Amino acid sequence: MSFEAFHLDPSIMAGVHELGYVTPTPIQLGSIPAIMQGRDLIGLAQTGTGKTAAFVLPLMHRLMHSPRGRVGALVISPTRELAEQTAEVATELGRQTGLRAVSIYGGVSMEQQNRKLRDGAEIIVACPGRLLDHLWKGTITLSSLQVLVIDEADRMFDMGFLPDIRSILKCILKPHQTLLFSATMPNDIRKLVKEILHSPVTVQIGQTLPAETVSHALYPVSQHLKTSLLKELLRKTDTESVLVFTRTKHRAQRLAEQLKNTGCRTASLHGDLSQSQRQTAIEGFRTGYYKILVATDIAARGIDIQDISHVINYDMPETTDNYIHRIGRTGRVHKNGAALSLVTSEDDDQIRALEKLLNTPIKRITLQDFDYTRAPLGRETRPPRPPRRRVLVHNKK
Ligand code: AMP
Repeated sequence: MSFEAFHLDPSIMAGVHELGYVTPTPIQLGSIPAIMQGRDLIGLAQTGTGKTAAFVLPLMHRLMHSPRGRVGALVISPTRELAEQTAEVATELGRQTGLRAVSIYGGVSMEQQNRKLRDGAEIIVACPGRLLDHLWKGTITLSSLQVLVIDEADRMFDMGFLPDIRSILKCILKPHQTLLFSATMPNDIRKLVKEILHSPVTVQIGQTLPAETVSHALYPVSQHLKTSLLKELLRKTDTESVLVFTRTKHRAQRLAEQLKNTGCRTASLHGDLSQSQRQTAIEGFRTGYYKILVATDIAARGIDIQDISHVINYDMPETTDNYIHRIGRTGRVHKNGAALSLVTSEDDDQIRALEKLLNTPIKRITLQDFDYTRAPLGRETRPPRPPRRRVLVHNKK
C-alpha cells in the first residue's frame, strides 16, 4: 500500500515525497486512517517505527482547514530532544502546508519562545514543565485545540511528569481528539487512558520486541575492565557511528573523556549539560563529526539519528523496556544494526529477562587477545572504606 491511499491533502503529500517516504510503516498503516476519522487512539509502538509521522500527517490534515495563528494541535513530549525533533519532522512534512510547528521546552529563554509564539503557530510540541509556565502566563492558550498527542507516555510517567500532564489537561476545556503513544503500558498510564480517551482504537506494533534488523551480543567482563574492553571492541569492530549507554551522568562524562583521549571523536549527552552543549553533541553526532556518543537513557530519549550502526550498553539497562528503547536507535526502518552489551555477573537477572523476551539465547563473545585476568588498578585495589557514620544535627529551638 502507498501513502496515496490515505488521501492526505496534496500539500502534505508534497512533504511525504520530499522526505522520501514511499511505503507507510505498520504503525502508520494502522493509525493514519483511524486518526483521520477523528477517533481517539492508543499507539503501542517503540521508537524507530515511524510513529512521529503516524500522528503528524493526519493531524496536519485535520488542521488544513482550521483558522491559522491558533494552536490546533499540541504534542506533549518527555524530552527537549524529542520535542525539537518532532517539531522538525512536522516542519519538514508540512513545508507546503503553511502550518507552523514550534517546540517549547525549558532551559532556554522564555522571551525567545514568546516571540516565536507571537509570530503564530498551529502545532506546538512541548515538554510539560515549560508548557505549564506558558499556560499560566497566558502566552499559550488552548481554546482552539483540536488534537492532543501524548507521546512516549511511559517515559513521561517514568520521569514523574504525570501530575504536570494532569494540570495541562485541566487547561483544555473543549472536546478534542486525543492520541496517546507509548512503548509499554504501565498501570498508571492505563488509568490515564481510561480517564481521558473516548472509545479509543488501539494500534499495537511489535510492542515489546526489538526490531528484527538488530543483532544482539553479550560481552562478559569484570566491571574494572569495561573501558579497556570497550576500547578494544571499538578498535576491532567496523563501525559507522556508535551510541554508548551508561547508567549515570558521571559515568557518561568520564567514559566520553577516556574515549576522547584515545583519539576517537566522542561527545557525551547527559542531563548535566546545558541545552546548547546537548544540541552541539547531537548535531555533531548527526553530521558524523562525532563517531561516538556516550549517553544516559533520559538524555538519549527520542534522538532520531539515521545510520547508527552500533548501540553499546556499557552498563546494562535495568529493564527490558529500557533495552528496547536503547536499541531502537539502531536497525531503524529497514537498516541493520548491532546491539552489544558489556555484562558483569551482576547483570544475570536482566540477561535472563532479555533472553526470555527474545525467546532465544544471546550469544556470549570473548575477545581474542584481550587479557580478562588483569587485576584492577589504583583506586579499585584499595580495600573498601568502612561506611560513613551519619551525624544527625538537631536544630536548636
Ligand atoms: P520515528 O519512529 O518516528 O522516530 O521514525 C524513525 C525514522 O523512520 C525517522 O528517521 C523517520 O524519518 C523514518 N520514517 C518514518 N516513516 C517512514 C516511512 N514511511 N518510510 C521510510 N522512513 C520513514
